[in-house]
Parts: sequence; structure tokens; C-alpha cells
Amino acid sequence: MTFPMLVIPDTLAAGPGPGNTDPRVLERLYLTGVADHMQKDVIRGMMEAKAMLREVFGTKNVHTFGVAGTGFSGLDCILSMIHPGDNVVVFVNGTFSGIDGLTIRMKASTEEELASDSLNPKPANVKIVEVPHGQSVTGEIIEKALAEHKPMWAFMAHWETGSGRINDIQGFNDACQKHGVMGMVDAVSSLGIEYFDIDDYPAVVAWSSCPQKGILCLPLTYAPVSFRDEAIEVVKKRGCRTYGHHPVLEARHWGIINGKDGDPAYHRTHSCYSVAAFHEALRILLQHGREQKAVDYAYHEKALRLAVEAMGCEVTSNMTSLVVLNLPGKLAGLEKDLVAKCREENFGIWTTLSSPIQVRIGILNQLNQEAIADIAGRFADAMLKMGASFNKEEVMQELAEYFSS
Ligand SMILES: *Cc1c(COP(=O)(O)O)cnc(C)c1O
Repeated sequence: MTFPMLVIPDTLAAGPGPGNTDPRVLERLYLTGVADHMQKDVIRGMMEAKAMLREVFGTKNVHTFGVAGTGFSGLDCILSMIHPGDNVVVFVNGTFSGIDGLTIRMKASTEEELASDSLNPKPANVKIVEVPHGQSVTGEIIEKALAEHKPMWAFMAHWETGSGRINDIQGFNDACQKHGVMGMVDAVSSLGIEYFDIDDYPAVVAWSSCPQKGILCLPLTYAPVSFRDEAIEVVKKRGCRTYGHHPVLEARHWGIINGKDGDPAYHRTHSCYSVAAFHEALRILLQHGREQKAVDYAYHEKALRLAVEAMGCEVTSNMTSLVVLNLPGKLAGLEKDLVAKCREENFGIWTTLSSPIQVRIGILNQLNQEAIADIAGRFADAMLKMGASFNKEEVMQELAEYFSS
């Protein structure tokens, strides 16, 4: 059996992720020659990408590298440090920290606990601290939970993309430090968007991100991870039940040997195309400048926020790469219909993936006036078609004034 050649249209990816890939990245992907995973330029590309990743993370951590795959591949690598029976406190305030919590419950379960509810185990040694959707995890919440439970590990999402909320990373670090807890953070949505150095948070021993959001390298490439030496010592001492995502073994192909930069050793067959694309995405990010990029996201997010508020929507997020909003009263309950209609027209926005149902519009790699006006204009049209009442011309005029003032 065969099928016609697969043709996928070019859509406006205006969701929480993935972002629109830069043509320069795609060009590196398809103009790269075939070469095996130990060819000298492929290896050089990996060593340079490793050096750039340390800069992107703002770290001197030797164990900084890319895990082949998506965001959850990197998360699996850092969370593989957790063993059955380990005490863990997990802060959940939306879809993704919820899924990370599931991964942690699976890894921290005993055989019996896992078998008793294999897709959703609930080991007593993992304490899930639920923070309502639409709210941030605060330093007080973290301090209270760590003081009470004194776990071995604590976990939080830096930016929770499900609800569009920024969580208190300083508070997380400080509480981990105070209570002698090893912190782990999902930085999937913040790396490459917010300007921060992970070395300023020394109680967080492992960080994980993704290729498709702030790094803007969707051609399936690498999930950046970074481990402090303390974490690597734990892995060396206790071991880790994975070869593919092993923090020490996987690092060897990136030339991280015995805690130092050295000659790469085969771990798995890296793709020359992925290496070239990832390398270019990191170059673009660093050429833009981490700090400037963060400023640009804040500026453009504000423009979109003001526009959707002028259409009568209520924004409940505080991340700078997307707005999460409630539709005006008249359209309440129609979020899924509205988003489905937009998606049919290749305008790729999203609802939330867990309740309450809200609309999420993202601006990854849309950092210019035309792109924001295009997004706002398409969203305005979709709302008006569903019966919203506002003056689109006025909204677009105000948006133009924001950019010219
Ligand atoms: C997108 C996202 C993930 C999952 O990333 P994938 O690339 O889909 O695997 C995990 N955590 C957060 C906070 C995210 O935003």
C-alpha cells in the first residue's frame, strides 16, 4: 500500500509552540551534505553547539548538551536521576508541570505502586503541590512545602505554558538552598525567551528545555539540558536506569568525558542535518542577543495583549511569548469552536489543553509589527464572525499607534 506524497501547508504557527523556524535553519537542514556522526565537521558542529549552549543557559556547567528529541526527551534525561522511593515535591500549575509530575511519579514509584496504576501511579513519596490554573507558583508556597516535606528533590516549571504563568525561580532556588533540596526545573518555555543565567540559581542542579520554542529549531533536533556537578555525582554514585537518556553517557558524544571537555565518544547516531540546523538556530539566538531578545518579546507581547484586550478579551497570563485569554462574555464557551475555525484557515492558535478552556495565542519568532498586526487582524476577524462586537479598525489603529509611539 502506498499514499500520495505528503504535502503540509505553510501555516501561521501562532500558538504556544512550535515557533516558525527561521529560513536560515531550514537551509542548513537541506543544504547540509550527508556525513556520518563521527565525521570531523559534524563533531566540530556539536562541540561549537555545546559552547553556544553554555552561553544560552548562562552557565559554566560542563554537563551542558542537547538530548536528541523534543522537550520531553530532555525532561526524561534530567528526571532519570530520580529513583524509586526518592522523596520529591512537585509544583503543578498547568498542563506541562502536570505531565512532568506524572513522569516523576512513574520514576519514583516502586514496582508495586507502578503496577497498581501503571499510567497514573501515585507513590506516597511524591508530593504534588497543586496551584490553581492561571496562578503562579510563589516563593511562599515553595518555602512552606519544602519546609514541611524536606524532600531529596523538588521540581517546578519555570514558565508554565499551559496557563501562561511565570513561576518564582528565585523563590524556588532560595527554598531549595535553605532546606538542602536538589532543585530541577523545566525551562522548556523560558530558555531563549527570558534573559537569565542558570548559574545565578545554584540550588537548581538540573535544567531542561526544548528545540521548538525559544531555540526555534523545530526540525527535530535537540532538547538543551544542563547539570551541575552535584547532580552528576549523584548519578555516578547511584546509577540511572537508561542508556539513551543517561546524563553521563549521553554527554560523552558531546565531548564531555570524566567531567571535562575531551574527545567525543560514540553514544548514538546523531544526524548531520540536525546538528547543522541546531548550530544555526543557536547562532541566530546569540547574534540577536539573549537580552535584546527578551526585551523584544516583552514589547511585542504587550502589543498583542493590548489589542486582544481592546477586542474585549481578558488576559490571565504573564509570560512574554504568548497571551492566554478569556473571550468576552458573549462568546464565552465558544473557545474550541473559535480556535477550530482559525486552525481550518491555517491560523494555528490553541486552546488550553487542561481546564479551564481558554484561548492561547503565541508570538514565537513573530517579533515585528507586521506579524503582530497579522495575528491580531486574523483573530479579530474570527471573533467578529462569531458575533463579537468591537470596531476592528479602531483596534488596528491603536495597535499601529503603539508601534509608532
Ligand atoms: C512545550 C512544553 C513541554 C513539552 O515539550 P515537547 O517539545 O512537546 O516535548 C514541556 N514543558 C513545557 C513547560 C512546555 O511548554
